[in-house]
Amino acid sequence: MADVLLILNAGSSSLKFSLFAFKSGDPEQFIRGGIDGLPDRARFVALDAAGVEIDRHDWLAPLERDGALDFLLQWIAGEKAGRHRLVAAGHRVVHGGTQFTQPVRLNIANVADLESLAPLAPLHQAHNIAPIRALMRQSSALPQIACFDTAFHRTQPRLAQMFALPRKYTDAGIIRYGFHGLSYEYIASVLPSIDPGAASGRTIVAHLGNGASLCAMQQCRSVATSMSFTPLDGLVMGTRCGSIDPGVLLHLMRTENLQASELEDILYHQSGLLGVSGISSDVRTLLKSADPHAAEAIDLFVYRAVRDLGSLAAALGGLDALVFTAGIGENSAHIRARICAGLQWLGLVIDDSANEAATQRISTIGSRVSAWIIPTNEELIIARHTQAMLD
Ligand code: ADP
Repeated sequence: MADVLLILNAGSSSLKFSLFAFKSGDPEQFIRGGIDGLPDRARFVALDAAGVEIDRHDWLAPLERDGALDFLLQWIAGEKAGRHRLVAAGHRVVHGGTQFTQPVRLNIANVADLESLAPLAPLHQAHNIAPIRALMRQSSALPQIACFDTAFHRTQPRLAQMFALPRKYTDAGIIRYGFHGLSYEYIASVLPSIDPGAASGRTIVAHLGNGASLCAMQQCRSVATSMSFTPLDGLVMGTRCGSIDPGVLLHLMRTENLQASELEDILYHQSGLLGVSGISSDVRTLLKSADPHAAEAIDLFVYRAVRDLGSLAAALGGLDALVFTAGIGENSAHIRARICAGLQWLGLVIDDSANEAATQRISTIGSRVSAWIIPTNEELIIARHTQAMLD
């Protein structure tokens, strides 16, 4: 019977999972899927390694998070997932604070430490921890490992992590943490075999999905990133505003009497591509639309990405390579072309046909800065760490 790892990524309305076979070398994903639409429109889908659907289920009544995990565990133990023995669970946890700079094997004490970080990530941390607690109750002997979105950025110089706030706030942990670290760690792990020059030099990775950020890497280590204290900062995102003058928030609080929860909803859920276009948070929909507000939302997304790329190139003292990843970065030739056009001054020349064909290298041979598409794989990073902890 094969030993397998369960990898979980629990969000506010979804519980994504993968099963990896425990192997010498890299663990191998053989099933992935999840339940989304929690709690009111819950739907389960499971896909095999080739992406072929092997099962699905819809709920008519509301399904709460604990019920979702129970369903998932029963499904994993059932016939369709194959005969195997679950040997560990690996979890994506958004916030590791300043304390967790590496993946950690979970126990009662450090789960409590992670819970104490919930105020730093009010929309994510509690959801990430819920299945950890539930699994601890149900199968206390099962090793569980947490991997953090913030950990990859802890190599940054102190200045890159500081806000210019009174020192007592910096000392209290109000710093630039950065996110998407598991995605950047994956890119850093494959870059040496794709572009050895970039891997030993200066690279910016553009993780452009619903959430979007940039990471400047020197020798594959994070030296600066566009997200900061929360995943709100930096680029324009699907429904998040990205960088904003904090004076705007003070103004809205004073003039519209907005409470923190109302501001949170505007900044996280009503802004970004959705807010500017008034149509959709999805780049595909906006690119198809004839509405000038859709075009303006895309223009702003590109403009801000180019400006922040320039800022990170300055932090690196130049640029050797640019990597596109995540939903938009991997799939939108239009967005890639426009961002690259804005970086010609850095010596980046895009190869239009390579970009349209989405080959791995999308810059011309003569381009001083190389440009790449590298699909990210956060689950594999969690599975690697989980397997390594068991080894
Ligand atoms: P998340 O941050 O939720 O993990 P993803 O990395 O899956 O997001 O990215 C989702 C986004 O990718 C979608 O909202 C959409 O804007 C974009 N996207 C996906 N496929 C395409 C495509 N073919 N062309 C343009 N944009 C795409």
